[in-house]
Amino acid sequence: MHPLPLDPESVKGFMPASEGAELYRAVSLAPPALPCLEIGSYCGKSTIYLGAACQRSGRVLFAVDHHAGSEEHQPGEGYFDPELASADGQGVDTFGAFRRTLRGAALEDTVVPIVAPSAAAARAWATPLGLLFIDGGHSRAAAQADYAGWVPKLAPGGILLIHDIFPNPADGGRPPYELWCQAQESGDFEVLGLFETLGMLRKRGASSAGA
Ligand code: SAH
Ligand code: MG
Repeated sequence: MHPLPLDPESVKGFMPASEGAELYRAVSLAPPALPCLEIGSYCGKSTIYLGAACQRSGRVLFAVDHHAGSEEHQPGEGYFDPELASADGQGVDTFGAFRRTLRGAALEDTVVPIVAPSAAAARAWATPLGLLFIDGGHSRAAAQADYAGWVPKLAPGGILLIHDIFPNPADGGRPPYELWCQAQESGDFEVLGLFETLGMLRKRGASSAGA
């Protein structure tokens, strides 16, 4: 991995450096020139890794997040951060922090934020994706909607990344792990590896890769 433009450890979020390095590497495995898309940016920690790799290879990264936080980020819940409370104090707003990350990392020419519910953004999406990173809502409904809405947009040979995979239920929630199983059972993917909790697959159907 080349030096990053901003230290991800200076940004709030949920992406360990070891898995972040795999995100960065995954971009180089995606079919050339096609855009990449992230679902679930929060304050932009994962976005730095994907965005820096996209910038180096001349790709665009679309970053989808309604920036209102997941269930566990809301006031009174386990991962609530008072510094990210929305102006009205009723909820969460991570868009300001996300924009500061993009500016600090000089990624505004590469990362295109889409501030919307993932399902709304998926509805009219027609551009084939070279890479899809699923790290949005972890409820079963949210995870399944992300899979149904976005996985069909992957180009042949495209890379699918799923975060927070816990094969042992004692370690964490089921829905991302269920997506990981679903992708394998579909027969549409070749498994490239499970790196800690980051699953990496390649959609079948292309003869070459790399960029
Ligand atoms: N990738 C981030 C962590 C993402 S946390 C990091 O590296 O730190 C999950 C994010 O998904 C939250 O920011 C939340 O706002 C977003 N999210 C949850 N459900 C969503 C939905 N249905 N549509 C869009 N974004 C959603
Ligand atoms: Mg995650």
